[in-house]
Amino acid sequence: MLQWLQWLFGQSDTAPVLLLHVRCARCGAVVQTRIHLYNDVSVEYDEREEVKGYWIRKELMDDRCFRLMTAELRFDRQRRLIGQEISGGEIITAAEYEAAWANRGTTV
Ligand SMILES: [Zn+2]
Repeated sequence: MLQWLQWLFGQSDTAPVLLLHVRCARCGAVVQTRIHLYNDVSVEYDEREEVKGYWIRKELMDDRCFRLMTAELRFDRQRRLIGQEISGGEIITAAEYEAAWANRGTTV
């Protein structure tokens, strides 16, 4: 069992954590959240009840206007990101997130 786990985690060359960065559509504030690709996701089965992939619905809230945003991410069987949708905001890159934080004090 331990060997199996080691094999499982050894498969990926990155940590099994995805950082999701989102910008609120209403106020422009940015939010970061961590998604653990093993603990947080739900399994999705196909019609033959075989594992098709994984998915997660994550609710986020910024600290400026406190509007709720809902992100939905889908992964394939290797837990690679294959689709993302968000309501109430937009998904941004880590670089955009860092830039928004750097400018935060001057724009408010
Ligand atoms: Zn907001």
